[in-house]
Amino acid sequence: MISPQTILKKYYGYSSFRPGQAEIVDAILQGRDALALMPTGGGKSICFQVPALMLPGCAIVISPLIALMNDQVLALRANGIPAAAIHSNQDEYINRDSYDKAIKGEMKIIYISPERMTADIDLIASKINVSLVAIDEAHCISQWGHDFRPVYTSLRYIKERFPGVPVMALTATADRLTRTDISTALGLDDPFCWTGSFDRPNISISVMNDPGKKQRLKIISSLIEKYHLDSGIVYCLSRKKTEEMHAALTELGYRSVCYHAGMTPQDREASQKAFVDGDVQVVCATIAFGMGIDKSNIRWVVHNNIPGNIESYYQEIGRAGRDGLPSEAIMFYNFADIMMRRNFVDESGQKEINSEKLDFMQKFAEASICRRRILLSYFSEEATHDCGNCDNCRNPRRRFDGTILAQKALSAVIRINAQEAMNTVIDILRGSNRADIVKKGYNRIKTYGVGADLSSRVWHSYMLQMIQLGLFEVAYEENFHLRPTPYGMRVVKGLERIELSLFQESDYYSSGKKRT
Ligand code: ADP
Ligand code: ZN
Repeated sequence: MISPQTILKKYYGYSSFRPGQAEIVDAILQGRDALALMPTGGGKSICFQVPALMLPGCAIVISPLIALMNDQVLALRANGIPAAAIHSNQDEYINRDSYDKAIKGEMKIIYISPERMTADIDLIASKINVSLVAIDEAHCISQWGHDFRPVYTSLRYIKERFPGVPVMALTATADRLTRTDISTALGLDDPFCWTGSFDRPNISISVMNDPGKKQRLKIISSLIEKYHLDSGIVYCLSRKKTEEMHAALTELGYRSVCYHAGMTPQDREASQKAFVDGDVQVVCATIAFGMGIDKSNIRWVVHNNIPGNIESYYQEIGRAGRDGLPSEAIMFYNFADIMMRRNFVDESGQKEINSEKLDFMQKFAEASICRRRILLSYFSEEATHDCGNCDNCRNPRRRFDGTILAQKALSAVIRINAQEAMNTVIDILRGSNRADIVKKGYNRIKTYGVGADLSSRVWHSYMLQMIQLGLFEVAYEENFHLRPTPYGMRVVKGLERIELSLFQESDYYSSGKKRT
């Protein structure tokens, strides 16, 4: 058999695999299921396209984005690979023809919408020799994901309908819980899991607390001018705010376009084209903008309003600096936006999860420790050093060696077998004689009361930092119990030291409202 490297060279002209690609391809060739977490631009397509070219039969790729599907199919055909897209946004005879070719064994890769996959499953399972099934944007299957799509949950049938066929799930964004969910929801069989690094060290990160309208425009103008040969994105909360921002920037003489779901598809396409072609300096957009945009010289991303969760935020800032050159992400934060977001969350039908995610986003905005460490530990990536390229690193607040405090907290959590959420852990550390603490015998553990010298507000601030630094993970699925991470275990053993940012009165601002 020809090697994966040969295929990579022959069809794509690349001489080596990127991290993870070769491992994932190997797993699939051995018939294993796989779960691949790679940042956008990390090269997920190669992971299923190369095995698709090596295995007999036709690969099925489920993708929710029709525009993206069509692009990929064109690219494959340009490389001489027989491929097609099947979805209901094109004439039905095209779909028929593609199926016919696949049945005759003349097709190597079919991209298909989840709706069509579900509708046509009998035909596909009985008539097509399927080599592998890849589920792109797999986070859509999880209720915990930020982009849940009900049609994805029906994809459970895939493992049953294609016995012995490797199934792979791919995504660029999934926190720990979403990952587990993907694997269980699809019934993956001992999948090979690959998690690529999500770090984007070339993007500087900052959050500005409540700048006024004028100041916002000034900051955006200075970005436009600083990077006058390249372009940037201003993300706004609503269509109206997008249009207002666009009008304000146009008035200042900048070349700007709008992008939101209220525009006609033609207008949206024109905006996107103007942006990608570099005809404009800035696009003012809602979250509708960005999926599948392949522009490497986006130099800056401004969030005029706080996003609803870390996944969206990270995905949006990640559109900057794909070329690896220095880029900037600036977020404007004010409390009114949080209140507005809370209303969205209340109406979202997934109130508890979305509210937790918004909470975490808010704490990120209010944090005084390295922001990149918070982001990376959110995606379960260990980050044990400050990045030096965020506002909090550049203007550090007073720090102190928090190792002993962290050891106290970690050892309390270990002694109670990670069975409690943050507030109870704090009460144990402070030696509270609350009835349930006594009843559970927590007053007899060695760490009971060892933190009585600090007030509960101060503990709140420090525990939150410890969570953000990745010493603990929060088990959302188990009443928010705290669990020590491997990094936390090293700290408790004295193998690593940590610094905390000194408590200030203003820290209580939002964490005081925290539910337990
Ligand atoms: P993703 O789906 O993870 O966002 P893509 O599969 O679209 O990423 O790949 C992003 C870009 O990287 C594409 O232009 C692709 O051709 C390129 N690429 C992928 N793998 C390699 C490789 N091994 N060597 C060089 N370029 C690669
Ligand atoms: Zn930092």
